[in-house]
Amino acid sequence: MEDSYKHKGMRRSLVRKLREKGIRDKRILDAIGKVPRHFFFENALISHAYQDKAFPIGEGQTISQPYTVAFQTEKLKVEPGNKILEVGTGSGYQACILLELGAEVYTIEYNKVLYERTRKFLPLMGYRPKFFHGDGSRGLPRYAPYDRIIVTAGAPSVPNSLIEQLKIGGILIIPVGDSERQQMYRITRTGERQVSRETFDYFSFVPLKGDEGWGKG
Ligand code: SAM
Repeated sequence: MEDSYKHKGMRRSLVRKLREKGIRDKRILDAIGKVPRHFFFENALISHAYQDKAFPIGEGQTISQPYTVAFQTEKLKVEPGNKILEVGTGSGYQACILLELGAEVYTIEYNKVLYERTRKFLPLMGYRPKFFHGDGSRGLPRYAPYDRIIVTAGAPSVPNSLIEQLKIGGILIIPVGDSERQQMYRITRTGERQVSRETFDYFSFVPLKGDEGWGKG
């Protein structure tokens, strides 16, 4: 895989587009400017890698739209050293952005084929989150609590397990809605039994499967 001047130029124009769409955090724009998104695409789709669109990655799943990645990451308020759980590893692109921000990343994927593929592929690029296979709608209790949790699939409601696995002061970003569209929620755990909720724009994600998602599917 080659990261040519042409690809770097396309990344710069993607970053410009994200800035125009309202992404302000320079660290996130720099990370998107750095991670070669075309490495995550199969050959036939490589020319589309720097469009601001979601694309298929096999197994009926997608690599999220760059704007969506940037938006969720910005709302997550990542600080260097944060311990972050990502639910929905998919291609691994979002995990790379979180690693570029200096986070310690735990990422869990439900689909075995994608889990195996991404677990082998990301370290070849020098990115080493901790990979897990399983139902992330129930979180990853073994390594809880987390400073931040990001869910990259659409949930019918906010899973209790995820709130329970947040540190006090921790933040969960999760799209919640039906199969057509979901509203982005930011949940902050303000106390042992207290949370605050903020709502943002609507997006369209693939469904969050599993016990606290839409079921086995
Ligand atoms: N973060 C990904 C990326 O950067 O490519 C985008 C992932 S895609 C939009 C959503 C992913 O969530 C899919 O790979 C899907 O298999 C996974 N998923 C769905 N339900 C899940 C669950 N309960 N636990 C873990 N992963 C799940």
